[in-house]
Amino acid sequence: MRDQTGADRRHPAGARAGTGASSSEEAGTQWSPSTGVDLDAGPKILERPDHSLSRGDLSPETLKVLYRLHKSGYQAFLVGGGVRDLLLGLRPKDFDVATNARPQEIRRLFRNSRTIGRRFRLVHVFFRGEIVEVATFRASPGPPDSPEDWEESIEEVEEDEEETAGPVPPAGRHEAVFGTPAEDARRRDFTVNALFYNIADFSIIDYVGGISDLKARVIRTIGDPEQRFEEDPVRMMRALEYKVRLGFDIDSQTTEAISRQCRLISEASAPRLTYELLETLRSGKAAGIFEAWRQAGLVEYAFPDLPHDSAGVTIAGVLEKVDGSIISGRTLATPSLLGGFYLARFFDLVGENTAHDGRIDNAGLLDALRDLVAPAGASMHLPNQTMHLIQQGLFTLTKMRKVPERGRQVLKLARQDYFPVAWELHGLAAALGLVSPDIHEGWRKALNRIGRKDRAEDSRTEGEVRRRPGHRRRPRGRRRR
Ligand code: ATP
Ligand code: MG
Repeated sequence: MRDQTGADRRHPAGARAGTGASSSEEAGTQWSPSTGVDLDAGPKILERPDHSLSRGDLSPETLKVLYRLHKSGYQAFLVGGGVRDLLLGLRPKDFDVATNARPQEIRRLFRNSRTIGRRFRLVHVFFRGEIVEVATFRASPGPPDSPEDWEESIEEVEEDEEETAGPVPPAGRHEAVFGTPAEDARRRDFTVNALFYNIADFSIIDYVGGISDLKARVIRTIGDPEQRFEEDPVRMMRALEYKVRLGFDIDSQTTEAISRQCRLISEASAPRLTYELLETLRSGKAAGIFEAWRQAGLVEYAFPDLPHDSAGVTIAGVLEKVDGSIISGRTLATPSLLGGFYLARFFDLVGENTAHDGRIDNAGLLDALRDLVAPAGASMHLPNQTMHLIQQGLFTLTKMRKVPERGRQVLKLARQDYFPVAWELHGLAAALGLVSPDIHEGWRKALNRIGRKDRAEDSRTEGEVRRRPGHRRRPRGRRRR
């Protein structure tokens, strides 16, 4: 198993037993982060007895992937948030694996796998109910040039059976991007996200000072924060998400860089921004994260078209109710999560379109509602179906202002594709005091009587690949077009 340089990748010459960090790897171009960590000193290794991460904490599928790679002679590490969260005693959202096996080699080891990404090929290994993402170490001769160096292309590579059937071709067009574990660690975003758990000897390898930052509970970019945020402005949002989710501090240089660079977030691509927002809305910590984004000046540049606070109902108040729902196990569909931002404004519009005799001007209200929702729909690139569900979900609230008297009325409404969204928004509106809780309860009983389940399906949009249940692949790409 030789690559172009003649080195045997399965058993790298001079590799320190089990760590995968050969002296030649360490001798490459070094760039010193502002952390004061001396990268030339080589990685810090925490041997098995010196850390709390146990194999039993990994999903059986992830373990299977790590062991098969290892037994086939490759380096195999658990990387990213999985290591961070397990060291903190938290349950990871997903597990990522990094290896020196090339994508084609990974595909050969796992029949149930698929290559994704054009430029940086990742392999998704499919199991029942879980996808393990396996990436080949990527090179980083200096700070990465652009986020495209990190992010793979949006497109999935067509299944190319010939690719895996023949002999492994010589190093080719993708070869330049592959690198060593040390390089792979340094191109990651924050020190606490760059720890590697080595399945060969159960040690943890720390190339960037992540262990001490984890102990100090600090989020710090790897390298100069200004430069790292210029490369990929979405990292600013990620820093604040981790701060709130983990209860960490952000290091002062990283904080200063966010306040200087916050405008840059408007250059991030709409799908990536929308992804970050939706993941946050589903996290159960949305109120805190959104407030941290707002205070940092990111919301006005990332989501300029989302409504602001209304008299009596703040966005923070709405998000607290969303969090409450998610924490108690009641997930909300995407259109309901986004529709929540519009609830208070919608009830204002209903008032504006209601005559003295209590009749609503439906056509006028629908027009006003479209005008209200359209700008964010366009700037966030929301699919038409999501827009339809948000608008119809909100509009249907006008038909749910009283406890229903006839079963037929309930049945007719409950058959509509948008009713589950309307029902979730009705629940949010009741929690916010915009609808009487008695009326909500009345509708619940009426729905139970006709045997409808009282929850919306989580309408995941097309093209989204599930990893662990509830986790979707991060969209790629930088600029908002
Ligand atoms: P989560 O708990 O939300 O899954 P995570 O830290 O695992 O958090 P992911 O988005 O799953 O985050 O990404 C996995 C890892 O990939 C991160 O821990 C980090 O090392 C790296 N990474 C992800 N996005 C970026 C980015 N934009 N720039 C640099 N590194 C990144
Ligand atoms: Mg993750």
